[in-house]
Amino acid sequence: MTEKELVCVVCPMGCRITVTLDGENIVSVTGNSCPRGKAYAEKECIRPERILTTTVRLEGGVHRVLPVITDKEIPLDRIFEAMEEVRKVSVKAPVTEGQIIIENILDTGANVVASRSMKKR
Ligand code: SF4
Repeated sequence: MTEKELVCVVCPMGCRITVTLDGENIVSVTGNSCPRGKAYAEKECIRPERILTTTVRLEGGVHRVLPVITDKEIPLDRIFEAMEEVRKVSVKAPVTEGQIIIENILDTGANVVASRSMKKR
């Protein structure tokens, strides 16, 4: 058996959660004050996901790069692969906040979208 200590980030309470694992199987979750914390801890131990935030090259804009973000979490173990995809992309200004830059990146179901608008130079 192994124990994994986590701080729940679902709400500002920041409960300290202990997950007991038997190999890859979860035996118990303790320390959470609500079911959302249990779900967070289970996902974090079995299939962690993250929002990807990065930049893409921007042509003809007031800046040379455009900040982008995935519109939902993607598997943590695919973040670097996703970064490689984003690096291949170049966008032309103007860009509107929320505009899809890469649709369904790596078939994760997440879109990479502009996190701010960018005017033409
Ligand atoms: S376990 Fe529940 S109350 Fe505690 S931080 Fe997570 S969401 Fe908030």
